[in-house]
Amino acid sequence: MIQYTLECANAHRFDAWFKNAAAFDAQQARGVVSCATCGSAQVSKALMAPAVARSGSEKMSLSAGHPDAAKLREMLRAYRQKVTSEADYVGDKFAEEARKIHFEEVEARGIYGEATRDEVIALAEEGVEFAPLPDLPEEHN
Ligand SMILES: [Zn+2]
Repeated sequence: MIQYTLECANAHRFDAWFKNAAAFDAQQARGVVSCATCGSAQVSKALMAPAVARSGSEKMSLSAGHPDAAKLREMLRAYRQKVTSEADYVGDKFAEEARKIHFEEVEARGIYGEATRDEVIALAEEGVEFAPLPDLPEEHN
């Protein structure tokens, strides 16, 4: 079971339990999830990821001038290279594939790919283990 904090079109927030992330998606698509206060069926997951900047004015954690910064960046680059050369690229199916591996529906293997913020929140709530793949600014040069 997963608990989601939901928000309706009128900004009422309430908690609801679902069997899993797919069950929520299916019920939401059928319009059977409704607000406990006003009955609106226009509900969505309330965002609960304060570490992710949502607008241009929100703060990010940064650092500068550390003597080992270049060495650590090199380690991150090596880590990224190792993951991307050895793991399977699954593109935007990352959440689906990570969940299958976690629930042992497929053989364990390394994967990497992309997921939306909603998918990342759902995976974390389901206890699926994953880590951010460092995206190094100088690779975009
Ligand atoms: Zn409402």
